[in-house]
Amino acid sequence: TGNLMAGKRGIVLGVANNRSIAWGITKACADQGAEIALTYQGDALKKRVEPLAEQIGAKMVLPCDVTDEASIDKVFETLEKEWGSIDFLVHAIAYSDKSQLDGRYVDTTEDNFTQTMKISCFSFTALAKRAEKLMPDGGSMITLTYYGAEKVMPHYNVMGVAKAALEASVRYLAADLGEKGIRVNAISAGPIKTLAASGIADFRYILKWNEYNSPLKRTVTLEEVGGGALYLLSDLGRGMTGEVLHIDSGYHIVGMKREDAPDI
Ligand code: NAD
Repeated sequence: TGNLMAGKRGIVLGVANNRSIAWGITKACADQGAEIALTYQGDALKKRVEPLAEQIGAKMVLPCDVTDEASIDKVFETLEKEWGSIDFLVHAIAYSDKSQLDGRYVDTTEDNFTQTMKISCFSFTALAKRAEKLMPDGGSMITLTYYGAEKVMPHYNVMGVAKAALEASVRYLAADLGEKGIRVNAISAGPIKTLAASGIADFRYILKWNEYNSPLKRTVTLEEVGGGALYLLSDLGRGMTGEVLHIDSGYHIVGMKREDAPDI
């Protein structure tokens, strides 16, 4: 523990359980003195998120489904009423119909394309617009992305397209909000076994492939992604905006992958 985030208040959206990347980030920030509000998507997750909120002494645990604009507005009304302003925002939300995280991208339906884009990309912009109003003295926002935005990954399909748009939106948001001292960045995390990841066909194979081919010869942990988030959300990262920071054991720098791994 330390005090890198002492005196800072922020909101984290995307905790589903204790394996969520959002939870790794929440813990890293809370350990450094941040005061954090959490949200949960629907009643089913409420009972998972509430005990986690208790662990970090979070007083605000609010419902938020990003497909429902009114629920987003409610969250920001509550933040304004309780805190007046915030210093940081974490967006760790993505969704696509599981049946289309398999097979070919070309078979994506219009409905799922639109829904995936709305939840996994537009929601960050919708949140940023509202958070801007609560950041009169500047602030820091981050979202989570994946290498499938840059290169074709098996079964990532429409989610890769949404992540590419999300990364582009990070740059446009950074340009819009920079003069207000608000920084906007993304973390491109290596594969981690979470609820969302379990929707991707053959995810175990992707984990093994990353272990075998990344420079560090292993996958990354929630704590390591939390460490990167801490850098971007605290004053340590105050010179950085519009960036996509890879926390992936170096996987993205490798040009020529091995053809096979003995254990996959
Ligand atoms: P997770 O399942 O723990 O988190 C996904 C979250 O999205 C859940 O909390 C879920 O409630 C929320 N969500 C989905 N639809 C929503 C909606 N309509 N309204 C509000 N919330 C909604 O999984 P995770 O892997 O921790 O995912 C967090 C982020 O990290 C995602 O953006 C994901 O794409 C990204 N990411 C994950 C990996 C990985 O390998 N796990 C790698 C890189 C990036």
